[in-house]
Amino acid sequence: MKNYVKLLIIILCIGCTDNKKETTRLVQVDQTTIGKHMQRLASDDFLGRKPFTAGEVITVNYLKDEFKKLGLLPGNGNSYFQDVPMVEITGAPSEHMLISGTQGSFNLDYLKDFVATTNKPVTDIGLENSELVFAGYGIVAPEYGWNDYEGIDWKGKTAVVLINDPGFKSGDSTLFKGNEMTYYGRWTYKYEEAARQGAEGLIIIHDTEPASYGWNVIESGWTGARLTIESDLPLLHVESWISGASAQKMMEASTMKGQDFKVISREKGFKPIALDLKVSVDIKNEIKKDVSKNVVALIPGTERKDETIIYSAHWDHFGIAKTINGDSIYNGSVDNASGTAGLLAIAEAFKNNGPTKRSLVFIAVTGEEQGLLGSAYYAENPIYTPSKTIANINMDALDSPEKMKDLTITGYGQSEMDMYAKEAALAQDRYIIPDPEAEKGYFFRSDHFNFAKIGIPALYAGGSYEGFTKSIEEIQALKDDYINNKYHQPSDEYNPEITELSGVQLDLQLFFNVGLKLSNEANFPKWYDGSEFKAARE
Ligand SMILES: [Zn+2]
Repeated sequence: MKNYVKLLIIILCIGCTDNKKETTRLVQVDQTTIGKHMQRLASDDFLGRKPFTAGEVITVNYLKDEFKKLGLLPGNGNSYFQDVPMVEITGAPSEHMLISGTQGSFNLDYLKDFVATTNKPVTDIGLENSELVFAGYGIVAPEYGWNDYEGIDWKGKTAVVLINDPGFKSGDSTLFKGNEMTYYGRWTYKYEEAARQGAEGLIIIHDTEPASYGWNVIESGWTGARLTIESDLPLLHVESWISGASAQKMMEASTMKGQDFKVISREKGFKPIALDLKVSVDIKNEIKKDVSKNVVALIPGTERKDETIIYSAHWDHFGIAKTINGDSIYNGSVDNASGTAGLLAIAEAFKNNGPTKRSLVFIAVTGEEQGLLGSAYYAENPIYTPSKTIANINMDALDSPEKMKDLTITGYGQSEMDMYAKEAALAQDRYIIPDPEAEKGYFFRSDHFNFAKIGIPALYAGGSYEGFTKSIEEIQALKDDYINNKYHQPSDEYNPEITELSGVQLDLQLFFNVGLKLSNEANFPKWYDGSEFKAARE
């Protein structure tokens, strides 16, 4: 097939401080390419791209073939695939969670008062008279001099912790990051940390405001089948949530009776408090194992092949599920045929641009919708040395409704990737802004987060605030329409008549420009001081 990519000669001012101007041929990311792949990936033929279905086979083979056609090499030895072994665990917890103490015992009711799951792939597991210890926010953060687990041998014990981090609603912007949620505030972190400490179980106390969702979300989200990756990391026997009212009841029956556990947890120097209570709960699991695939393709560098820039996007969506308005195929056009098409369009632009000094890696990951599983597996089993992976640029749900003036950076203030994004945005006559909803922790909700966790600086951004012609209000209305009427529904479809891709093209062009700069220089962008990911890099 012929290539209609147009070359645009643009004079770039590189290193403006020394007034040295350099002429660079800047390839354009092709809008037709983006639309073509989005339309294919989001078509009914791809069956909603669900892992372990015929839709997966069609999707990963399509991506492999397209990368191959573009002349990219297999990214995992001589294969374009990285196998991602997954386990599906369907747990049935006991009807009650028993809390027993010297003052008497009481039961919590399943779903009304507590939920309990496990990531351990065994048929029968639980806690039996496990000692309960209150561990504040359950955080170990050396950069803040904070350790909620200090001074206790956690073997056989179960920690009880609060959701979010001490900064939330503290009125103190220097306590962690104030209202902005740090990684330490996420439930995923809390379960991981408790397991690292050697605890047997972790109970998170639900509270609507700091969690940013109600108990109903816990109730529906923590029941039924759960997919997880096969992992060598330490795992808890039981991961649990209890309602705020149940926590009050528990505290009243404990050594903390009469004390405000939320206030105590915020105090610097907090130490864990034994509650003089024990917990028992049992879970029966049904276990199914299967293998899904990440698709990995490579453009090797000419000078420093072992240094890589990784572009990522999740290929998966929800497949065929509950019928809504007569449609049961969850096409996931915006989420995330857009980002997956973006990988191919950027790869094509690099091929047209010619060789770069560093290598470029394109990974279409699986299982994002089930909990960032493909990228988590990659982070635990990296193909390219993390310390030599310069940066990750992740694309998830590109939906700029037109060319946007803003570039909204999710996780702004984490790393020098902000500077690269800013420079590229200014060159497009755009401005950068931080994610206006940083307290919701979106930085931790897509695949770049798993790259960040192993120390790789990540960029996750897009235009979403103000258009070049559309006002802030018009853009907000379009965003609301997507969230309310299309997000995670069969109606997230590609319609060539009305889908406007100039804004997506502009964002992808920016990601290409950032990657191009990184791929030809020697710098390693750094995490800023105070970032919870800095330690992993160093
Ligand atoms: Zn997504």
